[in-house]
Amino acid sequence: MRGAPLAEKLREQARADAAELGSVGLATVLVGDDPASHVYVSKKHEAAVAAGITSTDRRMSAGTSQEELLAVLGELNRDDNVDGILVQLPLPDQIDAEAVLRAVEPVKDVDGFHPFNAGRLYAGQPTFVPATALGIMVMLEDYGVELAGSRAVVVGRSTIVGKPVAHLLLGANATVTICHSRTRDLAEETRAADVLVVAIGRAGLVMPDMVKEGAAVVDVGITRTDAGLVGDVVPEVAERAGFLTPVPGGVGPMTIAMLLSNTVRAARYRRELLAFP
Ligand code: NAD
Repeated sequence: MRGAPLAEKLREQARADAAELGSVGLATVLVGDDPASHVYVSKKHEAAVAAGITSTDRRMSAGTSQEELLAVLGELNRDDNVDGILVQLPLPDQIDAEAVLRAVEPVKDVDGFHPFNAGRLYAGQPTFVPATALGIMVMLEDYGVELAGSRAVVVGRSTIVGKPVAHLLLGANATVTICHSRTRDLAEETRAADVLVVAIGRAGLVMPDMVKEGAAVVDVGITRTDAGLVGDVVPEVAERAGFLTPVPGGVGPMTIAMLLSNTVRAARYRRELLAFP
């Protein structure tokens, strides 16, 4: 289940939509010098530019105070040329990430992390949905994976991936189980899954004997090793599963494509082409 070709199609769509809207603006804010975050933000920035979206790439030093960051967000909230705002996580320890995410105007919250947008998803009336979760759903749909009535197991309960994807699967009428670090017998749960989404961040945790024959398996995990990026699921699972997303080239490219699509959505909300609740 490759993500890259589908992501390419979606990026093309975002480009066409942005051109139709005239001008669409995204602002990314990065605090500190985490190397992985710098790579992620640069990729997002490049993808936005390639889609014809005006992208402002704000980088702030590791010693930035909460007040300084909130001041920048206030500026971006007020800037009419900025449709979407994204604050790259994680933030340095001196900054209260919850307060920062709450400071982004909900109508510009393209990451879907503001409690307003998270609450809409919880209520089954999604507005902005976190890009990774959205990308997983679009992939499952594109590959024709039947969700209604299926048994879906999500491993990982983060607010960035696990919880939002579980809500979307529930909204698609799957019977959803969420597993986490305290789950007593993980293999017993995963073996029951028709659709298995793994978002842990532990290389090779899911082995073939933990997967049901023919299951659709989505590997969200990314771990850097000397041999390159690897997922949470060992590649041999592909022999047993009906579908398996590769790492890299699976969920990652979809996440970036969905960020662009959320940015176009923000521009539509702000131009009242779509009603923002
Ligand atoms: P996180 O650290 O916030 O959450 C990890 C979750 O895994 C937790 O809920 C924890 O309970 C669970 N967990 C830990 N050990 C476990 C175990 N042994 N058994 C079962 N569950 C266990 O991480 P996150 O932000 O959700 O990210 C998860 C992974 O996905 C990371 O590798 C991250 O890099 C990757 N990720 C990829 C993309 C992408 O675009 N491809 C996007 C976001 C995150």
